[in-house]
Amino acid sequence: MVDYCELAVPGVRSLQPYQPGKPIEDLQREYGLTDIIKLASNENPLGPSPLAIAAIKKQLQELSRYPDGNGFELKYRLGKQLSVETDQLTLGNGSNDILEFVARAFVQPGEEIIFSQYSFAVYPLVTQAIGARAQVIPAINWGHDLNGMLTRISDKTRLVFIANPNNPTGTWITEKELTGFLKQVPDHVLVVLDEAYFEYAHHPTTGLDEFPNGTSLLSEFENLIVTRTFSKAYGLAGLRVGYGISNKIIADLLNRVRQPFNVNSLALAGACAALDDREHLKKSIEINNDGLQQLTQAFDSLSLDYIHSAGNFICFDLGRSADPVYQALLKRGVIVRPVANYSMPDHLRVTIGTQQENEIFINALSETIKT
Ligand SMILES: *Cc1c(COP(=O)(O)O)cnc(C)c1O
Repeated sequence: MVDYCELAVPGVRSLQPYQPGKPIEDLQREYGLTDIIKLASNENPLGPSPLAIAAIKKQLQELSRYPDGNGFELKYRLGKQLSVETDQLTLGNGSNDILEFVARAFVQPGEEIIFSQYSFAVYPLVTQAIGARAQVIPAINWGHDLNGMLTRISDKTRLVFIANPNNPTGTWITEKELTGFLKQVPDHVLVVLDEAYFEYAHHPTTGLDEFPNGTSLLSEFENLIVTRTFSKAYGLAGLRVGYGISNKIIADLLNRVRQPFNVNSLALAGACAALDDREHLKKSIEINNDGLQQLTQAFDSLSLDYIHSAGNFICFDLGRSADPVYQALLKRGVIVRPVANYSMPDHLRVTIGTQQENEIFINALSETIKT
């Protein structure tokens, strides 16, 4: 038989698939459990907006039709809400799609992509898949060392990935830090600012001081690409919709590499409706803020260290290998996320759930670490 691995392009040959959070159905099958809570994939515990569900139901009648490949309606609404032109937008099948478009459109094999240690697992995957070289900059206090990233920029560098807030650590950079960095990045290097958790960190009333809004920096920095998603605060992870915001020329190039119908019609309809439901978004953020307090207080009283987070998840430190604790939580019907694949073998990442889910998790955790 032909060695098909040898036939694969080098980047793909050595690729390790992304490891998602354990699905509820898997745990049901494996342990015969029925009461399971999943706090593993930073999903919105409130679920989707009822307006989105209604819009999707209505759209079901049209499933025989191709979706609007240009996503006119969604781009129109996003453009208005973000105060950008519609031709600055690129829609993606999740914002992961956009991360891949940028790499495919701008980076050739052998060129370099810079990102931080402990940053999103998709960055190394995208880099490897196109045969580019990853420059991984050691983190400072679990977060980005922006000066370290600047120092590593060379003639070969095409792209820098920065998640703000960062996943899996939840760390964030301030507006001053970000603009200071962007001012020093040469124009030939693109910066992808991944704002998947933006809504949690940048709320007008409950947000963090000094948390930057990437879209407001686009006019000053033409090499900046901001990505956002409906998967997190909007509670639509299953639909797969995200978007990129950039200057028009970059957006045009990104739109050339995407498939003509990369965002399906239910996703377009659901995302449009979700944008209108400001109340649901606000409630989602409030639940998250309350849950953040609930969980950090619990970690304090259990004397467990954790990384301060601006997202809808927290990494906590067990001070020893976290895997036995992960397994014990599974047996109690609680799914959290191991982060050993991020070289954080002593940590687990828990998504902030509803008050009740958090309580179940806290109880399961305290029983587990006492035994
Ligand atoms: C969840 C997440 C995304 C969003 O992925 P989608 O493809 O939009 O579901 C992007 N970046 C980071 C850092 C994330 O954690």
